[in-house]
Amino acid sequence: MSIVRRYSFEAAHKLEWHTGKCRELHGHGYVLEVELAGQLDERGVVMDFDDLDKIVKTEVLARLDHRFLNEVVNNPTAELVACQIAEWLDAAGTMWSELRLWETERGSVVLRRQS
Ligand SMILES: [Zn+2]
Repeated sequence: MSIVRRYSFEAAHKLEWHTGKCRELHGHGYVLEVELAGQLDERGVVMDFDDLDKIVKTEVLARLDHRFLNEVVNNPTAELVACQIAEWLDAAGTMWSELRLWETERGSVVLRRQS
């Protein structure tokens, strides 16, 4: 079974290599979905949502919300921001199974843990 929790943050970035308008400084309302797969524990949950919230707030949102992403991630495409989020969660020992980062209403990237 897996649980999915959704978070959001606002951030700015620009993509130096882009030939269109994404080259200019602009912002997004990002939505991050964190999925964790596992067995149910004796309480009947994969992981307490509150425990996941604490980790994501500390490890991810505190580093990205209302930030200029180019100062945090080199070349902050949605793909590379998702990879950075995965690294932070890994370092915190969170066994996420899938991360989805929505950059716009219609566009998202998905990172699946290779097992
Ligand atoms: Zn953008």
